[in-house]
Formats: sequence, C-alpha cells, structure tokens
Amino acid sequence: MKKFAVIYDEIFLKHNPGIYHPESPQRVQAIWERLQKEDLLPYIDIFPPESATKEEILWNHSEYLYDVISQTKGKSYIQLDPDTATNEYSFDAAIKAVGAQKVALRLLFEKDYEGVFALVRPPGHHAERDRAMGFCLFNNIAIAAYYAKNYYGLKRILIVDWDLHHGNGTQKSFYSDPEVLYFSVHQYPYYPGTGHYSEIGSGEGRGFTLNVPLPAYCGDEEYIYIFETILKPIALQYKPEIIMVSAGFDLCENDPLGAMEVTPSFGIPMLTKILKEVADKTCKGKILFTLEGGYDLMNLQESVANLIFTFLNVKEISQKIIYTKRSEKIEEKVLKPLKDLLRYKAYWEI
Ligand SMILES: [Zn+2]
Repeated sequence: MKKFAVIYDEIFLKHNPGIYHPESPQRVQAIWERLQKEDLLPYIDIFPPESATKEEILWNHSEYLYDVISQTKGKSYIQLDPDTATNEYSFDAAIKAVGAQKVALRLLFEKDYEGVFALVRPPGHHAERDRAMGFCLFNNIAIAAYYAKNYYGLKRILIVDWDLHHGNGTQKSFYSDPEVLYFSVHQYPYYPGTGHYSEIGSGEGRGFTLNVPLPAYCGDEEYIYIFETILKPIALQYKPEIIMVSAGFDLCENDPLGAMEVTPSFGIPMLTKILKEVADKTCKGKILFTLEGGYDLMNLQESVANLIFTFLNVKEISQKIIYTKRSEKIEEKVLKPLKDLLRYKAYWEI
C-alpha cells in the first residue's frame, strides 16, 4: 500500500477571487500537473474531498460568518474585504477545502496512510471566527484540529504554520487551548500584523502558542536553525498525536507577495525532514499538510514534489546545512527573547 495521499477536486479550480488576484486557480492547477508526472505519481494515492457540514464549520466559526459565505453561492462576485472575494463556486470550494481535512484524518487514522497533502483552495489560516480575510473564507486547518479532537479524541495536536504570513485565525482559535500547540514562523512586521513573540497564549493555553517573527530576507539557514533548535525540542516534549502543517510556500525565494529566500530544492525538504523525524518519534510518522499561500507557480510545483519525495525518503538530500553568522543573528535578535520568556515561565526546556 502507498503511504502518501493527496486530496483534490476540480471544484478548487472554480473558486476565483478575480482575474488579477494572486490567489488564482492556476496555483492548484500547477501542483496538480506536477503530481501527474511519472516520477511522482507512483508514490501517491488520490482521493476526492467530502463537503464539511454546517455543524462542523460552526465548531470554529460563527453562524454569522457561515451565513455570509453561504449566501455568496451562485453570485458572480462578492467582495468580503479589500483582498478577499468570492464567485458563484466559492462556497462549494470552501466547504470541500474544509471537508478535505476530514477525509485526510480518516486516511491517517483509519487507513494507515502516513502523510496526506490537502491540495485545496481557498486557503484558511487567516479566517477568524466571525471574519473571512486574507484570501481565506473558512479556517481549514483549525477545523482539521477540531476533527481530530471531536472524531478521534486527540488531546495533543501540533500545528506548524510555515506560511510566510502569520496565521492569525488559527492562533485565535486555540489561544487558550493546550490541546493545540500552534507554532508559526513568519515575516514580521507584515500582514496581518499579529505574531509578535510575546503572543504565547492565555489561561490554560499559555505556552501553547509560539511565534517566531522574522525580518525579511531570511532563508534556508535561518528556517532550518529555528526548526532544529526550538521547534524540534519543544515538539519532542509535547509529543503530538498528529502534526498538521499550514503549508504555504510564499516563504520561498522570489514569491511575489513575500521577501523570504527559502529554496524549494533544499529548504523545503529539510523542514519536511525535521518534522518527519519528530512525527516518527511521537505519532507514527503522521503528518497532514494543508495548502495555504504561495504565489509563484514553479515554487509551488517544486516544493510540493520535494516535500513528498522527502516525506517518503525516496530522494536523499545531498546538501548539508552550514550555520553561519546569519543564525547567530537570529539566535540573538529573535530566539533569545522568546526563549527567555518561555524559560522564565518554565513552559519548555530549551
Ligand atoms: Zn501566506
């Protein structure tokens, strides 16, 4: 049996927020075409999503937002905020992007797949309880965590958000919830404005939200350093029962909306490898990747292909990481204040 599954449906090509919008149908089309090539296709099984029910969406969103989005159905263009818009198919795409997470968890927990990539749009991590924003309608990965809690009884879910932007919606959903550890690395200060290192959760959830805000022009070295020296030790202490990844690829070099320099050929496979090592030690290797942003089509194709090859260990990573003054700078300027805050409160041994 194959170990990796992809969830995909042509409905994800039909949601269109506007002809010049960067969050275009071509994004998933490009990844889908790459998956069909003969070097990759033998390694993956493909499944269609189901539609999420209203009840499932209301785990994370208000009835008000559900009504706002459902009322866009059949209407050719509705602008929801300065950069978020819908067409006649957006509601159907949005409930399937959420429902893809339900199918993914079933494959991971009932069918023994180790990895699943939910190739979905619209993306989700900016969507808040009452508010669609930042190209996102419903928060796919937040509802994935609710599926894991409500259908499988999970108590320790690690969400790693490596999208260039901070996942304000996901952070808010679980800010006081220790059953979900939210870890985000993002360009800062930048859209949506949240994600300062001092945002570490509240109440019982204090210490279970972790933000690494980075200046522009960070690349493979900084990201690998952060994953190795802070995410990995904390994740091994938390012992997640599943790892979910808000897999945006706008952290890659030359992205039209970002200023980071992670490479699809080395950085993305290395981050995948580190997460897989944690997953192998803590949760039988199980990782759910959900597409978020990423606006350069070549980066999307190469990143997803390399992610799957690395996950399945069918291609060795030949390059080695060499830490330089760039990581020293990140340690001093970004990680030290975060570690001091976490050590002071004794949440994690780092
Ligand atoms: Zn993004």
